[in-house]
Amino acid sequence: MSILGHKQPKYRAVMSLLLVMVAGVAMAATPAPASGDIPQLMARAESLKTSDNAGFAKLLETLESRTAELSETQKWHLRFMEGWQADYIGQDEKAKSLLEEVIKQSSDNNLRTRATATLINVLGAGHHYQEAFEYLDRGLDDLPQVTDKQTRFPLLGEASQLLVEAGQYDLASKYASQIVEEFPTGRYGCIGRMLKLHAELHDEQPRISNETFQSAINQCLNIGERLAADTIRRDMVFLDMQQNKLDDALSLLQENYGEVKGLGYSGLTAEYNVLLAQVYWKKNNIPFAQKYATAAVDIASKSDLTDPLLTAYQLLYEIERQYGDLRQALAYHEKYVAADKEHLDDVREKALAYQIVKQQVEAKKVELDTVNKQNQILQLQQALDHKAVETGRLYIALLLTVLASIAFWLFRLKRSQLRFMRLARRDGLTGIFNRQHFMEEAEQTLRYAAKSLRGACLILIDLDHFKNVNDTYGHIVGDTVLKRAVTTCQRYLHSCDVFGRIGGEEFGILLPECSLIQALERAEQIRAAIQDGRDDEFQHVAISASFGIASTAHYGYDFRRLLLAADGALYRAKRDGRNRVVVSMNETTPASNTHKHATGQGSALDSTPSCAE
Ligand code: GH3
Ligand code: MG
Ligand code: MG
Repeated sequence: MSILGHKQPKYRAVMSLLLVMVAGVAMAATPAPASGDIPQLMARAESLKTSDNAGFAKLLETLESRTAELSETQKWHLRFMEGWQADYIGQDEKAKSLLEEVIKQSSDNNLRTRATATLINVLGAGHHYQEAFEYLDRGLDDLPQVTDKQTRFPLLGEASQLLVEAGQYDLASKYASQIVEEFPTGRYGCIGRMLKLHAELHDEQPRISNETFQSAINQCLNIGERLAADTIRRDMVFLDMQQNKLDDALSLLQENYGEVKGLGYSGLTAEYNVLLAQVYWKKNNIPFAQKYATAAVDIASKSDLTDPLLTAYQLLYEIERQYGDLRQALAYHEKYVAADKEHLDDVREKALAYQIVKQQVEAKKVELDTVNKQNQILQLQQALDHKAVETGRLYIALLLTVLASIAFWLFRLKRSQLRFMRLARRDGLTGIFNRQHFMEEAEQTLRYAAKSLRGACLILIDLDHFKNVNDTYGHIVGDTVLKRAVTTCQRYLHSCDVFGRIGGEEFGILLPECSLIQALERAEQIRAAIQDGRDDEFQHVAISASFGIASTAHYGYDFRRLLLAADGALYRAKRDGRNRVVVSMNETTPASNTHKHATGQGSALDSTPSCAE
């Protein structure tokens, strides 16, 4: 049972589900109409949409049987409700075509906006992100003409939700704030605050106080919106965990776990299970971590929920590795990699869709400018016909100015396209490849290496006790020291090496045309340099790093396999005391070599020549 007394029609992200449902209950329930009164029948239908969906469906049938009596406006209203219902029961294609018809043909601004919001929900759920952003852009353009606040809510809500998914957190928070301003209290206000907090959670250093969270939760509980309250609590737990307040996170989860399970939303239940598993893992309670991660997998795999599934598999992989069951660990790792790929593809698709639509909008602006300028030329030409001789020179000068300004616009457009492409591949803090681009480049490099049968090595680097640096000196110093480590690594890299930030303080280097012994030497040089290097303003902050190496000579050219092996070696480097380099050998030579200092152990190493510098 859901909070609103009906079954969940199909899986949707909790947030978009809430948007659809809450937008549905805005209208006060209307009494059953005297038969025959069409406007009353329609108002009653609107009021029943989510509270009594079966009753709503019946009313739709009644209205459909009487289409001959409907006015033009009422016909479009009925079409919208049919589209809404199709979305609600999961008939995406039908919903899409009905809603598109309303958007294209209805002359009622309010109705068009409601249809746009519902259509965006359909498109988002079906992963048609580019179309969703196109409709969002048009809907937001029309919003100033929509005077009814209730009608603005679902579009603003969808905007915030979709923009968060595309990584545009500032914009997402802006639209959520607009909801909160328009609805300081009540249901819409509760959802607005939920969306706003969720967007702000993604700030680089979120500063949301417990009081802010609690007051939003109370606002939602006051009107019985428990699903929204539990969704906000999920974000509160997430922040607690980021700030390492494990006890706070755990008690919040334990207090509300039962209620969340009772609400019956698989998405939120899976997320609570994953969070519990993560807290227990951090608290070193491995059996409980395993229990909740397994529960999360159970729920998430049934409903195709990639996010919680990804984290749960990663945890189960770590747990099995800790237990020493490498076969089981590998099985989970494979599932994790598959889920990770699906997740990354989806994230990339959303971000790309946003950028493409943004570019299209800009291109249209330029096109419009160009047309305006051409009109100006025509007007000038007409004016100049009268004074053709004296003003001939002026005409040419103006023409040149106009052409130059068009060229300038086109140049700016191209430049911004290039900037977007670059931004999409780089890590914001260090400027090196981000995780996704590193993976792609590394895989490509390995494919070339496989063709030419030249050896390559993968080095994984993880800074030691880096949390202590943040805890002792603060995040700003932490960031500088992180960048220092990157600069140090770059001093020892060749132009053909692929270098990227894989996670927080973890980096990867793929060295093509490099033997294991050469990789070992390079890693050892970098290790020593990171330990010694203190050429910035925070000289008093010393750090070290641990290294794991795997070579194609032992693991072949499959990147995932190489990554797993290097990760295993890195794990051993950490376990054996950190600040060291460990090489992974394959199953036939299982002994690992630990190097605190550069002591090449030649016998098991291949001897491919090194790539040109
Ligand atoms: P270990 O030696 O086991 O790797 O210990 P650790 O503390 O480095 O490991 P852990 O993974 O627990 O913590 C990594 C920390 O790195 C957590 C987070 O505070 C910090 N971190 C991650 N990304 C950034 C960043 O961009 N900037 C700063 N300042 N810190 C970061
Ligand atoms: Mg670390
Ligand atoms: Mg780490």
